[in-house]
Amino acid sequence: MDQPSGEFDLIARYFTRPARGAVLGVGDDCALLAPGAGMQLAVAADMLVEGRHFFAGTDPQALGHKALAVNLSDLAAMGAQPWAFLLALALPDADASWLAAFSAGMFALADAHGIELVGGDTTRGPRNLCITVLGQLPAGQALRRDAARAGDQLWVSGTPGDARLALGQLRGEWRIAGFDAALRARLERPTPRVALGLALRGVAHAAIDVSDGLLGDLGHLLRASGVGAEVDVDAIPASAPLAAQPSARRRDCQLAGGDDYELLFTAPADARDAVLRAADAAATPVACIGRIDAAPGLRLRDAAGAALHDTYASFDHFRRP
Ligand code: ADP
Ligand code: MG
Repeated sequence: MDQPSGEFDLIARYFTRPARGAVLGVGDDCALLAPGAGMQLAVAADMLVEGRHFFAGTDPQALGHKALAVNLSDLAAMGAQPWAFLLALALPDADASWLAAFSAGMFALADAHGIELVGGDTTRGPRNLCITVLGQLPAGQALRRDAARAGDQLWVSGTPGDARLALGQLRGEWRIAGFDAALRARLERPTPRVALGLALRGVAHAAIDVSDGLLGDLGHLLRASGVGAEVDVDAIPASAPLAAQPSARRRDCQLAGGDDYELLFTAPADARDAVLRAADAAATPVACIGRIDAAPGLRLRDAAGAALHDTYASFDHFRRP
């Protein structure tokens, strides 16, 4: 593969495609976009840093997927319809085969969601992938994290903990039987729950996506809403490989794992059927894992109803020891 001759050739070859919905896409000082009447913009950015969020040598196609997926997950958590995105990229070198695979992974997911790359920035530096996503939603209908109410049921999508289980295997923390491509994909190619977020608009009260560990992200939702929760720890669905782990490891992965990109949301108890219909429409499994109480704090119970201590810290890049 011949190498790009410079920054603009690189952008033209790997990151420029014909504009679709945008008034003006890649190439000018700004992109131009026209949101629909009565719509609000939902905007989020997420950065992946080599050595911090992914190992050097990670499959570039998977990285392209994940860099966009983690951003789409933020739109999903607000109930926003993905619309467009920008890519700010620092690369140690202009390696054609890395760029081709990275952009293929990113555009495959973009095409699956019907969204387009409208701009960005490209510079030399330690490998760093930063995407900004834009979504749209009818004004006032966002699923905010401050909207949980006492009496709501607490729900989660999918099987949280898989990404952490896969990470432990790749880091050599444990060697599990049956580690396979499907489990590895839960870490490297997460599925943003966009359809579920859209289907939950008007049904759920509050939502957040689980990126730093279920209990930590639940804590953000509870504090923002000024409420507490009781969580039935054994009601959290486990994948087959996770269910096969000793219960302490399973709980560590499920409650404090991170990189799940599942949706954690609350809905009134009488919306239970509507939640199940939304999950069905989105072809995304969900499970009720607890309830929201007026009393602040987090109370964990096992299947027998016994109280468990919350020792599950979530991930914080700047936490002091
Ligand atoms: P400026 O000098 O105005 O900041 P640049 O020279 O950085 O613009 O980029 C030229 C054009 O290419 C702009 O439209 C910018 O949005 C786009 N662009 C730069 N890097 C990327 C990228 N990685 N992906 C998509 N578009 C990019
Ligand atoms: Mg620039």
